[in-house]
Amino acid sequence: MATETRVRIAPSPTGEPHVGTAYVALFNRAYARAAGGKFILRIEDTDRERSTRESEEAILRSLRWLGLEWDEGPDVGGPYGPYRQSDRRGLYGQFVEELLGRGGAFRCFCTPDRIEQLRERQRARKQQPRYDGLCRSVDPAEARRRAEAGEPHVVRLEVPPGGPTTFRDEIRREAIAFENAQIDDQVLLKSDGWPTYHLASVVDDHLMGITDVIRAEEWISSTPKHVLLYQAFGWTAPRFFHMPLLRNSDKSKISKRKNPTSLEWYRQQGYLPEALVNFLGLLGWSMSDGREKFSFDEMVADFNWERVGTTGPIFDFHKLDWLNGLYLRALSIPDLRRRLVSERCIESEERLEAIAPVLPLIQERIKKLSEFRPMADFFFQDPRDYEPALLVPKKREASDVRQALARSREVIARADPWTWEKLEADIRALADQLQWKPGDCFMPLRVAVTGSTQSPPLFQSLAVVGREVTLRRIDAALAKLAP
Ligand code: GLU
Repeated sequence: MATETRVRIAPSPTGEPHVGTAYVALFNRAYARAAGGKFILRIEDTDRERSTRESEEAILRSLRWLGLEWDEGPDVGGPYGPYRQSDRRGLYGQFVEELLGRGGAFRCFCTPDRIEQLRERQRARKQQPRYDGLCRSVDPAEARRRAEAGEPHVVRLEVPPGGPTTFRDEIRREAIAFENAQIDDQVLLKSDGWPTYHLASVVDDHLMGITDVIRAEEWISSTPKHVLLYQAFGWTAPRFFHMPLLRNSDKSKISKRKNPTSLEWYRQQGYLPEALVNFLGLLGWSMSDGREKFSFDEMVADFNWERVGTTGPIFDFHKLDWLNGLYLRALSIPDLRRRLVSERCIESEERLEAIAPVLPLIQERIKKLSEFRPMADFFFQDPRDYEPALLVPKKREASDVRQALARSREVIARADPWTWEKLEADIRALADQLQWKPGDCFMPLRVAVTGSTQSPPLFQSLAVVGREVTLRRIDAALAKLAP
């Protein structure tokens, strides 16, 4: 029987949920679905100083918001649990013992001071900082006695001398070799008894039956250490896929400084999860027909590693905004209403009900959910803070505008029936009488009622705002224009 494909993401909960985590999760999940396998979420929280539960919860919440759910994980459980490394702490010790027994690791008693001095010397000589191997010469039985007597120590990977360590990268479709002389004797077990990422990750990938490790390119230099661990344990290594690094528009690695990287930011900005997932799917990957708008299921149906590129894709906000606009405009009105409420762009369903006739008009004009509220605000409260100059179209005098607006007020006070069609016809007729361009009549009205020169269509807006409120706002504008 062929083995089941099992892939994982293994975020460290040490900060905000990163967009790169979602990117890697997407490709893991798409591949798992395409291969009929399982997608696992494992929390790597062995860095006790930097890991927090809040960060873990935020990561889970953000990935779930994106619809990138996992088949096994700390919250949903599964047959290979627990899925949080701090809950697995007790099981790493036996693997450290096994490695020590097999000569794949050694105990190191060097003090933090000595390691620091070593690093400084290496830095001064412009060398890569790495362990110099001093404790390799301590006799293992002696090392065990010292450890049992309570002497502080770490356990390090014993990189074999000579030769390269090689693995195949399935995205580059080639072997990558690292000279052993360049690989550090990586700390596997810290002096506080916690495993480092390298040990815990390899042990867990093995125990959880992970067949394919799909992760960001920045881990490429860690992979030879992991391969050495698999060899030392006598385990079969998984296949390795290193996804290209996302880049800012200046091609540097995507970073908080230049681009927002927190998934929570994208949510607050009003990006739709399906648009963000689609956007991430376009980074370094393409559909076989080159189509840019596609769903996760369509991505799965067309999934192929050969279409993953190796050059770092640029995180292009114009494209994201464009896609988000497409998805937003395609939402049904009930769906749009549901999302506006759930993303807190509006206080209640009732408020949306009150402006139901203009919702489709607003929907056409926004690219993100967050643009809804500023655009719709005038339905709920009188605009106050606009500059009087906004009321005056180019090449018109304030005094003329004041008169025209006063005439508009009369027309609006009388309009019957109160429909946007009637309002528009009456104001156009007024413009005719005044021999003004219709636009010059509309603009003062628009600014008076909405507080802005840009708004949803004017007459539909007036119809929803209502006669009384419209007149009140015109009066306020007339006061602003008073000499
Ligand atoms: N814990 C690592 C991280 O934070 C996991 C890297 C890997 O996938 O092996 O990204």
